[in-house]
Amino acid sequence: MDASKVKVTRGTPSERKPNEQLVFGKSFTDHMLTIEWTESDGWGVPEIKPYQKLELDPSCIVFHYAFELFEGMKAYRTKDNKVAMFRPEKNMERMNKSAARICLPTFDSEELIKLIGKLIELDKHLIPDGEGYSLYIRPTMIGTTDGLGVAKPDKALLFVICSPVGPYYKTGFKAVKLDATDYATRAWPGGVGDKKLGANYAPCVLPQTQAAAKGYQQNLWLFGPEHHITEVGTMNAFFVFKDSTSGKKELVTAPLDGTILEGVTRDSILTLARKNLDPIDWEVNERYFTITEVQERSNKGELVEAFGAGTAAIVSPIKEIGWRDSKIQVPLLPGEESGALTKQIAKWIMDIQYGNSKFDNWLREVADIN
Ligand SMILES: *Cc1c(COP(=O)(O)O)cnc(C)c1O
Repeated sequence: MDASKVKVTRGTPSERKPNEQLVFGKSFTDHMLTIEWTESDGWGVPEIKPYQKLELDPSCIVFHYAFELFEGMKAYRTKDNKVAMFRPEKNMERMNKSAARICLPTFDSEELIKLIGKLIELDKHLIPDGEGYSLYIRPTMIGTTDGLGVAKPDKALLFVICSPVGPYYKTGFKAVKLDATDYATRAWPGGVGDKKLGANYAPCVLPQTQAAAKGYQQNLWLFGPEHHITEVGTMNAFFVFKDSTSGKKELVTAPLDGTILEGVTRDSILTLARKNLDPIDWEVNERYFTITEVQERSNKGELVEAFGAGTAAIVSPIKEIGWRDSKIQVPLLPGEESGALTKQIAKWIMDIQYGNSKFDNWLREVADIN
């Protein structure tokens, strides 16, 4: 893959929508990026061109055997009017792992970051401004071999589309209720739950509608006879406990054992929590924990807060978990819709994303707005 070979065809620029009209993933920027791959010639000439429909044969392998993977990442307008991406190399690394797992081609991460940079530079006037507003970037790869044989694709298409988005919560946070789900399983040992393959998502929509019918916004995915807590909806799950004897608090999330999606937000939270929280008062752990532990610690008054973590919302506070016949109440700050650490973490991350504070090279500048 060679970003310097890119062929750019410009379309007519559209007007920026007013911020309040932005709906997640419903409208897209003027241009898209496509790169074809064939087994014989490797990656072809990258093209940036007006957003348009794809043309594929009905026998195409993606439609029958789910040779599809995707990423979700964001670009921000920073406070000094630059366009910047948040830790894009993490998404590229994960995309390559997803591709390798389903026999689709891998690529040079830095070349794709450069190409995405060019794509968003072209449509930078469409990136909304204001805290919480950003450009959601959806890199995707599909197998495009025609024919019904189940085999390693000898053709593939990588494409990137972008959607201007507003804050997940229009007016501050909104804590959610979860259905602790053991009647369906999102991912399992030896499976592909740690990869962003499209095939992982369709089977999770029915349990979500079942949870919704009971008044819950999302599933809290449990695994195995011990009912380990794995993830929440399509986010990583974090819980805070407080030991009532020592007074010490613990931030805990499930370990990356192949059943957990390796979230960039998850990694960012663990890194910032380990750096910013005082180890006298806090432990930060990746360990197994179960719904039974959550219930027992709730009974003892040791459950402090809980939240989901992912690119779309950064953090999503949890206020209640339905588990069999009981409802576990998760504390929130008085009169608020989140716990104290949840709120703190959202600020740490947003401050980096909008350029108010710097951490390592997590923010990658792509272009100047003016
Ligand atoms: C994308 C995703 C996440 C969050 O990953 P981020 O990189 O933080 O956006 C968590 N769980 C699942 C199942 C996901 O698909």
